[in-house]
Amino acid sequence: MKNNCVFCAIAAGEIPSFKVWEDGEFLAYLDINPFSRGHTLVIPKAHYANLAETPEDVLARLAVAVKKTAAKVTGALGIGDFNILQNNGEAAGQTVRHIHFHIVPRIPGGGTAFESGKADMNELADLAAKINAAPNTANNINRAQP
Ligand code: 5GP
Ligand code: ZN
Repeated sequence: MKNNCVFCAIAAGEIPSFKVWEDGEFLAYLDINPFSRGHTLVIPKAHYANLAETPEDVLARLAVAVKKTAAKVTGALGIGDFNILQNNGEAAGQTVRHIHFHIVPRIPGGGTAFESGKADMNELADLAAKINAAPNTANNINRAQP
């Protein structure tokens, strides 16, 4: 595995993921230990360990990718509210040293905890299919480009 990095392996297609958005530079997929239904990670396909190591121009485009992904995921699920989380370093809870932004959809009464749940892989597959099938917004990866 390149860099011994699980997210590089996902970006390279060596490890499968439930993709919900991508372009040439960035990729978004469902977290396998979600804090909430629709919990999504957005990564650059290139490897940068954390915020400090990510070049500013990449970071600027990554912020736009996060915005587009959040719009797509929350729009498809009919959820208006969400958290964005980005951990730097072990003490902050960073477990994968490849920069990623978490998008955590929130529903009224559903709490605001950042606690991993157990995901059923079939449910995640269904959820990704639902998100990708929803009438969308920019860059729906399941739709032919005009
Ligand atoms: P961190 O704690 O580093 O900010 O977040 C890492 C996230 O990556 C965790 O929420 C964890 O569930 C998720 N994760 C770790 N390995 C995989 C994987 O192989 N596939 C997916 N989709 N998510 C992963
Ligand atoms: Zn990596």
